[in-house]
Amino acid sequence: MLKLYNTASHKLEEFKPASEIVKIYTCGPTVYSYAHIGNLTAYIYWDLLIRLLRVNNYKIRRVLNLTDVGHLVSDGDEGEDKLEKGAAREGKTVYEVADFYIDAFMNDYRALELVEPEVLARATDYIDADIDAVDKMTENGFTYETTDGVYFDTSKFADYAKFAKLDLAGLQAGARVEFSGEKRNASDFAVWKFIQPGEKHAMRWDYLGRPGYPGWHLECSTIIDKEFGGPIDIHTGGVDHIPVHHTNEIAQYFAMTGRELSRFWLHCNFIMINNEKISKSLGNVYTLADLRERGFSPMDYKMWVLSGHYQGTRNFTFESLEAAKTRRLNWRNRIAESRQIEIDADSGFIQHLLEIIGNNLNSAEAFAVIDNTELSFEQWKKIDELFGLKLIADSPLISEKTQALVSAREEARKARDFTRADEIRDTLTAEGITVKDTSRGPIWQYLA
Ligand code: AMP
Ligand code: ZN
Repeated sequence: MLKLYNTASHKLEEFKPASEIVKIYTCGPTVYSYAHIGNLTAYIYWDLLIRLLRVNNYKIRRVLNLTDVGHLVSDGDEGEDKLEKGAAREGKTVYEVADFYIDAFMNDYRALELVEPEVLARATDYIDADIDAVDKMTENGFTYETTDGVYFDTSKFADYAKFAKLDLAGLQAGARVEFSGEKRNASDFAVWKFIQPGEKHAMRWDYLGRPGYPGWHLECSTIIDKEFGGPIDIHTGGVDHIPVHHTNEIAQYFAMTGRELSRFWLHCNFIMINNEKISKSLGNVYTLADLRERGFSPMDYKMWVLSGHYQGTRNFTFESLEAAKTRRLNWRNRIAESRQIEIDADSGFIQHLLEIIGNNLNSAEAFAVIDNTELSFEQWKKIDELFGLKLIADSPLISEKTQALVSAREEARKARDFTRADEIRDTLTAEGITVKDTSRGPIWQYLA
């Protein structure tokens, strides 16, 4: 059984797809800079969800979007477009910036062994669909025009406050001071922005007789409508998406189709670094490249992420990353051991593990149980498949020559030729191998 915490109902619910194929949408990155390790946590948690569904024999269609237009620096409708900002910073065109950071993101994605989505949807490939969507919402009476763009009238959607339990009256009162006058309600948002004369905005499309570009929230509703042709089973994102971005996605989708966007909504929490927010001013905006420079592989980081729960606030420290790395080395050595001696393993263990993870993706508990259970090589293969940790690939058998050295060392020990045994040990150390002497004979292990 798979139980997931559904933000829409605020409870743990049993998950079953509505049809044969599980339809999943993941809010993706805005591609204007490198992803930091906080940004990457979401894709790691959702990768576990995908892998778990796969192991449970579900067919999956997943769409991940890449935001290359329209996401302003603020969550509201003011400020610079993030892509324009990236282009100004780097002296490149917005399209060059987007291409560059899409590549960088996909490199991280692959380095983390994340299952590729069936569809990678680039926002600028859906502009015609965005325009159709705005037309549709307007036809259905959900929008109004201002000098600044086309706005969604949130008062027209009776359930607007429901998803995030918003206090709309409080929002309205709080916003009164800075209210521009043209916006009817504080929670209204742009579905299309007009480019004012003299305003610099390289990405522009003609709509309503003027140049403009889509509001950030629009792409997700449009892409889902276009790619799935109906509501989906699971929508994922970060907790910060709940009050604005996902609330607006739901409103737009309803205005376009009269339907509920998704049955399940999953949100992962933020990580802190040394108990502080990730921010440029603190100099803690680490990327995977920064971790590599300090001697940690993307798999060590994935191990760290999965050792906690997606809904918990996590505190990242390099000590805890070191612990994750050590744990992974320990697992690799247990894999090596399982290939050298017969392990008396419980044949029901994988089923037990799937039940643990099936309880709202409890990888933290699953890891603890793995730490304390004897496992066969076949079981390790399944575990590797389930978490995508490259455990088997990074645990190769030693060469025949090295194996011969291990045997020669044992011979020397038996003959009480300890000088020779120590010499061989040094040779093995240079090859990154150590030997543990056990009651079942010598067992080789990796040093790193
Ligand atoms: P940003 O580029 O900072 O707007 O972040 C993009 C997305 O990454 C956000 O919408 C969050 O969902 C996610 N994110 C940002 N910071 C963190 C963090 N510290 N921990 C987890 N997720 C984060
Ligand atoms: Zn989205």
